[in-house]
Parts: sequence; C-alpha cells; structure tokens
Amino acid sequence: MATSKPILISGAGLASLLLAQSLRQSNIPFTIFERDASFIFRAQGYRLRLSAEGLDAIEAVLDAEQWKRFWDTCGKTGGVGFTAYNPLTAEVTENTVPEGLASRGGKVVGIARGDMRRLFADGLEELIEWNKHVTGYQLTDDGVKAVFSDGTTSVEGSLLVGGEGIYSKVAKQVSGGRIKVYDTGARGIHGQAPTTAFKGLGEGVFRLTDESRPDGLVFIITNVRSGDMDNPDIEFGWTLGGQPGVIRAPNDDYTIVGNEAAKIAKALTKDWHPRFKPLFDEMNEKEAAFWKITCSTPSGVPEWPNEPRVTVIGDAAHSMTPAGGLGANTAVRDSELLGRLLREAGGYKDGVTAAYEKAMRVYASAAVHESYTTATKGFGINIDEKTTPTV
Ligand SMILES: Cc1cc2nc3c(=O)[nH]c(=O)nc-3n(C[C@H](O)[C@H](O)[C@H](O)COP(=O)(O)OP(=O)(O)OC[C@H]3O[C@@H](n4cnc5c(N)ncnc54)[C@H](O)[C@@H]3O)c2cc1C
Repeated sequence: MATSKPILISGAGLASLLLAQSLRQSNIPFTIFERDASFIFRAQGYRLRLSAEGLDAIEAVLDAEQWKRFWDTCGKTGGVGFTAYNPLTAEVTENTVPEGLASRGGKVVGIARGDMRRLFADGLEELIEWNKHVTGYQLTDDGVKAVFSDGTTSVEGSLLVGGEGIYSKVAKQVSGGRIKVYDTGARGIHGQAPTTAFKGLGEGVFRLTDESRPDGLVFIITNVRSGDMDNPDIEFGWTLGGQPGVIRAPNDDYTIVGNEAAKIAKALTKDWHPRFKPLFDEMNEKEAAFWKITCSTPSGVPEWPNEPRVTVIGDAAHSMTPAGGLGANTAVRDSELLGRLLREAGGYKDGVTAAYEKAMRVYASAAVHESYTTATKGFGINIDEKTTPTV
C-alpha cells in the first residue's frame, strides 16, 4: 500500500538530485541527507560527456523549463570522435575511437559536473539536510531510518535510497559486502585553464597519450568547444591520468585541492609540445584536484537478496573508471528508472526496488564492463577480483 512516509535519500550528488526532481514532480515526499555543509562546486569542473541514453533520461525527468535550461547550458562540440596526439611531438596518432561520441544533432554534448549538479538542485535546496553523514540504516517494523555518524537516526522513511557515491555504506550494508569498489592504483588530476590556452588544439575531443615515461603512461582527455575561444574569462577543463605509480599525492592524500595537484600536473607535462603546454602553464591552480581511478566489480553489478526498503543508485551501485564517460550517464538512468517505478506505484510499494535492481543490473553491468575494458587498454589498469584492494 502506498504510504506518505518520506523517501530518504543519502547524498546530494547527481543521481540523488535527479531522483529527487522526479519524486517532486510525482508529489512523493522525500528528504536528502548530505555529508557536506553546503554545495561545494570547487574542483568539480571536469566535463561529463552525455550519451544519448543519459540525455534521454534527464529529459524524461526534468520539466520543460528545467530541461531547456539544462540543454542550453550543455556545450555542443563538433566532430565525431577523439583526435589522438603524441603530446611530445604533436603528431596525430589516430583520429577516431570506434564508438561515435556524438549523442544529439551530430554533436558531442557535455557539461561541467558542477553546472549539472547546480541545475539538478534547482528548487531542492530546502529539502536537503546538510552535515548529515550517513553510515548505515536500521529497518523498523514498517519502514527504515538512516543512521548518521554522530549515532543519531533520521525520521522513519518508507524507503532509503543510497546515492552517496563510491564510499557508500548503504551499498555495503544492503548488499552484505557484495558491492565492491576496487582501487586500480591509477590516479588522475583534474585541471582547468582559460579557453584561450586551448587555441592550439582547435575544436574537438582530444586524447593525448605520453608513452615515453619509464614509470608508465600519462594521458589527458579534453573537449574544446568553438565559440568561447577568445574569452579568457571562460575556462575549459582537462583530465589527466597516470598508470599506477606515476601520480602520487603528498602523503597519499587524494582529497588535496589546489597548487600541490597543479605542481604535479605541470611536472608530468613539462616536456610536452608548445602546442599543448599552455593547458598547464596557464592553469587555474586553485581548481586542480586529484582523483583515484576506481571501478566496481568488472564482471557486473553483483546479485544480493533484495531488501524492499533499501536500494542504491549511481556510483554507490556501480562505480566505473572515467574511460568511456559512462558513470554519470548510468547514474541518471537509475534516477529516471527508480523515479518512474515509484510514480507508477504511487509511492513506495513492495516490489519496486526488486524491479528497479533487476533492470538496473542489465545496463549498469554492461557499462561497468565496457568502462573497465576500455581502461585496461587506454589506462593500463588491471583488476584481479581476488587480490586487488578495495576502497
Ligand atoms: C575525472 C572524472 C571524469 C568523469 N567523466 C565522466 C564523463 O565524461 N561521463 C560520465 O558519464 N561520467 C563521468 N565521470 C563519472 C561521474 O562523475 C560519476 O559517475 C557521477 O558523479 C556519479 O554520481 P553520483 O550521484 O552517484 O555520486 P556523486 O556525484 O559522487 O555524489 C555523491 C554525493 O554523496 C555525498 N556523500 C558522500 N558520502 C556521504 C555520506 N556518507 N553521507 C551523506 N552524503 C554523502 C557526496 O558529498 C556527494 O554529494 C567522471 C568521473 C571523474 C572522476
């Protein structure tokens, strides 16, 4: 039977916020619990490439006005695939990847992660409880409560949705430890620079791979749109990655943001061709941020006995490497699917989470597998499900 107890959502990331938009339109009550004290948009400038499936899911959830704002904010880049360069010589090494990157209107569609989060948060600010670090849940006779790190619990909800990213405790608890996130050992740095620094590249999506280092390869991926190239007040981002062992944050602290990360990116690219050097020489050091390349079980989202009142969405259910640009696209599909099933059921009902998990496992397992396979070739990573450490 439908109930008016709120749906509890853990984390205010991309997947959670889009689910919340869907629930709001269905008049289903919900509360979001976020660990941070407020929205932090710094170091979130890296660009998400949106696939046709991802765009369809977002369009299906947002109302017409929100969707227009979202679509207008997306960058649209010409070209059908990656152009790959040797960054030392500036020679083209290949010009496309097998899959087309264009998703709508023959363009590669992308948006900065911070912008996507801001747009998804539209009208939800009052419904987020900040400084709430979710560490698990307690089932009650007729519902569920989120448990916080200070030992307190939330109000009773009809359902708890864990959307708190790769370190999700809700995912661990509900799956009995079956959902695992492997640390591939590969590390990355996100950076941003004024658009004028990208003039040497021209418009397109680019991958530069430096294979000359004895300790392993270093690559960057970036996306350059036309239009803004003469305005130094606008920044584009790039994502730099290194094979295991190449990039090390001071004291192995990958939460560091700012010039420590910028310094390492500059050192790794110091011998790169003058055509690409401005991306690093002119970078906005404050926005530089480390990240770990993690991936959930490459063979697919595991099965666990369904708990009707608890489920997981986004990276909490299926984290993947940035290869293939599938993580956020898969996360928004979860939000659309779970939101739609809850709307059709008129709110929480027994069977909704089982139906969601059954459908999600199919497309999410394919995405994790594709991302992992692409990363084994492109980033030189390897996961042994028995021996690779988990996060
Ligand atoms: C460099 C890089 C490039 C990428 N490029 C692409 C791309 O091109 N295309 C693509 O589709 N994907 C890409 N991704 C992946 C994409 O960013 C993620 O898949 C997506 O952000 C997942 O969204 P989410 O809502 O599940 O988790 P997140 O966005 O990580 O949100 C989790 C939220 O939960 C909060 N939280 C964490 N722990 C707790 C807790 N215990 N209690 C309460 N709140 C908590 C966090 O503060 C955060 O707000 C990329 C990732 C990286 C790192």
